[in-house]
Amino acid sequence: MDPQARASQKLEWHQLWIDIGAKDRKEAEKKVALGDPVTFPDGFEVLSGSCVIGRGFDDKAGSFTASEVLRLLKGRKIEASVYSVSTVQEELGLRGGKTSAYGIDPDIGIAIDVTFASDHPDTDKKQLGEITLGKGPVIARGPNINPKVFSRLVKTAESGKIPFQVEPAPRATGTDANVIQLTRSGVAAGLLSIPNRYMHTPVEMVHLSDLENAAKLLADYIESLKPGEDLIPF
Ligand SMILES: [Zn+2]
Repeated sequence: MDPQARASQKLEWHQLWIDIGAKDRKEAEKKVALGDPVTFPDGFEVLSGSCVIGRGFDDKAGSFTASEVLRLLKGRKIEASVYSVSTVQEELGLRGGKTSAYGIDPDIGIAIDVTFASDHPDTDKKQLGEITLGKGPVIARGPNINPKVFSRLVKTAESGKIPFQVEPAPRATGTDANVIQLTRSGVAAGLLSIPNRYMHTPVEMVHLSDLENAAKLLADYIESLKPGEDLIPF
C-alpha cells in the first residue's frame, strides 16, 4: 500500500494488538491482566532551548500551571479564595472537572488546558486558527467563556506585558470549562491554554515560556480580583 493511503487509514480497536512474547495464555497472564492500561515508553526530553517533548503534556501542562500559580501567589495580598484542582478523566467526558466544580461551587472557574498549535506542516490554519508555540498562553473567547473573565484576562496580560494569543471557540469547548460553566446555577468560566504540537501523541511538544507566562497571567489575574466582582456579561 502506498504510504499516504496507509497513513490515512484509521485503525479500529479490534485491529490493534501487542505481542508481549508469551508462549500461551498462562504465561501471558503472569505478565498482564485483563484491563491493564498500556502506553508508549517515551519520556521527557529537551529538544532545543525551551522546546520540550513528552508524553501527556495534555494535561500535565495544566496541572503544572495550576500548581505554579499557587506558588506565585504565595506572599501576595489576594482577596479571592483560590482553589487549585488537578482533575481526572477529562478525555472521557470531562468527568473530574464536573465533580470538582460541583464540590467547590466557585464564582469563577478557569480551566487550564492545552490547545492545538498550528505551526507545523500537518495542520490546517483554516481549522485551527493561528496558534504558535512560544507566543504565549492562549485565551479562549466564545459562548463557553464569560466575556468579563475573557476581557480581564486580556487586560491583565496587556498591563503585565505578558504575551498571549486569542482562540475563538464558537461553541462549547472540549475542555473542563464546558462543565465548569454549567455547574449548579452557572459559573463564570474561563479557559487558558498552552499551545501544544502533536497533540495526543507520545511526543507532544510545548514551549516552557508559554507555561511560565500562563502561570504569571493567572496569578496576576487572581490578584486583581476584588470582592463583589460583577460577572454579569453585559
Ligand atoms: Zn486532549
